[in-house]
Amino acid sequence: MQIRSESPQTPPGQAVVLRGHHLLCQFGFRGYGYSPAFVENMRNILAFLREHPETMVECVDGPDSLCAAYPAEEPNHCLEPSVIARDRAVLSQLATTAGTRQPWARLVEAAAHAYVAEDLTTLCATCEWLPLGYCQMGLKQFKAGKHSRSAPP
Ligand code: SF4
Repeated sequence: MQIRSESPQTPPGQAVVLRGHHLLCQFGFRGYGYSPAFVENMRNILAFLREHPETMVECVDGPDSLCAAYPAEEPNHCLEPSVIARDRAVLSQLATTAGTRQPWARLVEAAAHAYVAEDLTTLCATCEWLPLGYCQMGLKQFKAGKHSRSAPP
């Protein structure tokens, strides 16, 4: 299923869909994104997951519930091989595979356990958001127990 910003609900038994590398991006979300609609969608989904950490999340190596709000007029990078490779690298590091479902809280803890901030320098070398440093900072804060587990900014 694709959670949309206007309806952040998860019907019983269904999972939110997230691509592997977005498990890391969420640490660095500071209210910036590809468009206002993208940001709103991401904020709503993260707020929902943080309020309901038991929510089942289906991991994928391709477009997900966040990509669903990627602006249609922008060059679409959601299917770029390098982005898919990043998904697969993260899922492999978490010892899971595309198509599996796990609770949100367990996935986030696993991602934080599997990576240190410095890893993003190579893993995310081609990402335009990397130089801002928010993802590295957010991962460090989460590992230190200082990252907000409540609604995102
Ligand atoms: S640097 Fe880019 S790809 Fe890497 S975690 Fe941050 S937003 Fe995601």
